Amino acid sequence: MPSNSSRDGALLVLNSGSSSIKFTVFRIGGEGDDIVTLFSGQLTGIGTNAEFSVKDTAGVSLARESWADRDTGGVAPLLHDLIAWIRARLPDLPLLAAGHRVVHGGAGFHHPVRVTDRVLDELEALVPLAPLHQPQNVSAIRVLAESFGDLPQIACFDTAFHHSEPAVARTYGLPRVLSERGLMRYGFHGLSYEFIARHLGETLPEVAKGRVVVAHLGNGSSLCALKDGRSIDTTMGFSALEGVPMGTRSGSIDAGILLYLMRQMGMDADALEHLLYHECGLLGVSGISNDMRVLLESDRPEAREAVDLFCYHVAKEIGALSSALAGLDALVFTAGIGEHSAPVRSRICSYLGFLGITLDEAANDRGEASIAAPGSLPVYIIGTNEEFMIARHAVSVLNARNAA
Ligand code: ADP
Repeated sequence: MPSNSSRDGALLVLNSGSSSIKFTVFRIGGEGDDIVTLFSGQLTGIGTNAEFSVKDTAGVSLARESWADRDTGGVAPLLHDLIAWIRARLPDLPLLAAGHRVVHGGAGFHHPVRVTDRVLDELEALVPLAPLHQPQNVSAIRVLAESFGDLPQIACFDTAFHHSEPAVARTYGLPRVLSERGLMRYGFHGLSYEFIARHLGETLPEVAKGRVVVAHLGNGSSLCALKDGRSIDTTMGFSALEGVPMGTRSGSIDAGILLYLMRQMGMDADALEHLLYHECGLLGVSGISNDMRVLLESDRPEAREAVDLFCYHVAKEIGALSSALAGLDALVFTAGIGEHSAPVRSRICSYLGFLGITLDEAANDRGEASIAAPGSLPVYIIGTNEEFMIARHAVSVLNARNAA
């Protein structure tokens, strides 16, 4: 158990999805405003058969329990028990705050914010912009606000980091009146890109000042163009559907396809939403799986086609973002596929010789931090940590408030 001092406390970071809640608990305070990860876990199967599991930073299991008995409607009883579990686990460390990953900050939220009743209403008003994710984010915040009213809560947005993008990158070729209604490119995975930008600034400051493309390749995938550590363009747009094909999402498709599906196949909004978010991408093309590992291990041609399509589009977007940056100084791979899949990185980079990129295949196979061949532009693998980024923001917001 960590040592306690009068300033020490625990911070809970929550990432609430439709059927799961991921959480990490940090110790904050102490010397130099340290942020130390204590343990992480998740509640899965919410709504049917909730299961609670927690691991420490070495991956050792601290708990694995069925919570089906309290999965009786909504997340409130589950969140109550999560907080009770944390408090019992850390009897000497008061819970000081909760930080939340919130998918959409709309046009208004450019920075993390301390949650008030007014903020909560504003977050709720953004539900139409992210109907699949925002409701879960908001409902977790509301449950904690109603049950633990004194607990400061900080909302951190996946869209906020992209606010630095120029209008030309944020605007669609739509009538102005629709852009003014908010039909613009917001971008997502911002907490991941912010983490990478800060990490580069701390470890490779010369690279951080340059033109960098970051490929966040996971179940959801996007890429971001960083110039001097700020986002200037990204592949996701109004929704998390735009850009490269993903695990189950289509990525960019001709909008005419939607008209065809509506007119010729009688699909309504719900059917389209289900198709585009859950039945496309790697799963749709392969007909086998949305999991890159399964596809790479399969010898079926459909699996190969799905992986090829993914790599082709990622490479194409790296080219497009290099144009937006007017050149490229470094490439970074991150997230589940980006960090762990050497064959995918290799296949993507096989398109990029024209940009001056050649991989050191042995270093790539070993998953080293720096994987470019001598004479190539630098290519890095950096592990992302959105939870840590949220913790950092939460501490800043709390400190700013204490100083005020
Ligand atoms: P999420 O977007 O849900 O946070 P992750 O960033 O965890 O997703 O990435 C999940 C993806 O990473 C899955 O497609 C999984 O197959 C892939 N992945 C994880 N490890 C490997 C690996 N060793 N090789 C290939 N793909 C991997």
